[in-house]
Amino acid sequence: MIEGKGNRESNDANPRVRFAPSPTGRLHLGSARTALFNWLFARGSVGTMVLRFEDTDRERSRVEYEKDILDSLKWMGIDWDEGPDVGGEFGPYRQSERLPLYREYAEKLYEAGIAYRCFCAPEEIQRRKEETIRKGISWRYDRRCLTLDDASVRRFEEEKRPYALRFKVPEMSVKVVDLLRGVVQVDSSEIDDFIIMRSDGSAGFHLAVVVDDITMNITHVIRGDDHLTNAVRHVMLFEAFGAKPPVFVHHSLLMGPDGAKLSKRHGATSVSEFREQGYLPQALVNYLALLSWSPGDEREIFTLNDLVREFRIDNLSASKAIFDFDKLNWLNRQHVKLLSSEELADAVIPFIESANLFEILNLPREKLIIAVESVRNNIEKLTDAIEPIRIYTAKPGDFSSKALEELKRSPDVRRALEICIDILGTEREADESAAEKIVEGMRESAALKDWKPKRILWPFRLAVTGSTVGPDLKFLIMFWGPAGCAERIRATLKVLDNLGI
Ligand code: GLU
Repeated sequence: MIEGKGNRESNDANPRVRFAPSPTGRLHLGSARTALFNWLFARGSVGTMVLRFEDTDRERSRVEYEKDILDSLKWMGIDWDEGPDVGGEFGPYRQSERLPLYREYAEKLYEAGIAYRCFCAPEEIQRRKEETIRKGISWRYDRRCLTLDDASVRRFEEEKRPYALRFKVPEMSVKVVDLLRGVVQVDSSEIDDFIIMRSDGSAGFHLAVVVDDITMNITHVIRGDDHLTNAVRHVMLFEAFGAKPPVFVHHSLLMGPDGAKLSKRHGATSVSEFREQGYLPQALVNYLALLSWSPGDEREIFTLNDLVREFRIDNLSASKAIFDFDKLNWLNRQHVKLLSSEELADAVIPFIESANLFEILNLPREKLIIAVESVRNNIEKLTDAIEPIRIYTAKPGDFSSKALEELKRSPDVRRALEICIDILGTEREADESAAEKIVEGMRESAALKDWKPKRILWPFRLAVTGSTVGPDLKFLIMFWGPAGCAERIRATLKVLDNLGI
């Protein structure tokens, strides 16, 4: 064990957690769930949330993925106190910018005799590995370079042969203390002398993670249980550096309905895809939290604030989290219901833009809000708003063939429409209650004539919208105004004139 550098001042009351994605793809829903758990834990206490990009895989890391991760987190409502974009006391927050630190730490292990130079070429290792496996023996690095004599080392150095640094795994029983899984104990003889610095000068994954967690004073490591085996190596490194390992929380992974890790073949996997498909961030966050956590009662609808208040990290279930698209759709509908008209309009606008519905986009804001509000009940995903909202682009006197048939078939259709014009009057605007009164007036007129309400209301709908389906009638009156509706009915009457009806 060597002298550690981490000066852990933080404790359980002031946890420092980190979300450490590799920017090698768009933010996966499973990673987003990890981010959410870290964030809820930090915000539910006086904690600090750190964002760190683990971009040591230079081939696969991309700036556009970094951007996608930042945007997706922000969209979900997750923020961070320290990170590559906002800086912080323990930066830089991109592993590719921390190489000198990794070198310094690796060097310490080397000098303490806990790491050694490995000159074996990858092809050579591969050959020995295959040979061992052929003999039916499981392969671990055979420590050939641990026992190199001085002369060979000198020769390799003169040849400038590239070398990696390997961690000399000590003989010990390694204990990973995990909040969800208890104490996981592993005999180190099962573990390879893993590489901490690669021969190309880059840092190995395990070293980078541990050095960062030490130097960033991370107190709790919350991540997917695919990292549980890595944690064994991490604990050995923490101990080698004389640092106290953080508290580990390895939560269960996100699985598709068939029990396999959530992947493309199950459908959307990245947060941005869910966003493009019309899910609300509130619903996605609610769903991700509920997947492995429950408040202990029947409640299912939670806002982000509710979650911050109620979420408990030690209440997470360690069992598999199976993704259920139907449940997410249901939750999305519930969260759509909770939005004000203004919020719903703002949420739908990007989809109206993508559909190039300029006639709707260019409407005065109050009309646009009425239009979106009128289709609220159609919305499971926000994209569901687009088809029904097109009704507001209909030209007066234009009909679907079905609507025209229905009009022709309506008894006393001209009379019914003239009554509508009368009741509508000449006001240009109507608020909700005025619009409801007008509809009520139509019902009363029908009653006076001993007609069923439908004999007036149905031709009204057909005449104003040219369609047999559409929103509640009051919205039509609020959208086009009473006078506007009357004009549309007049246009319909002209069509009927031309047809000799
Ligand atoms: N960069 C790792 C990943 O994206 C996370 C490592 C960690 O959380 O320790 O899976």
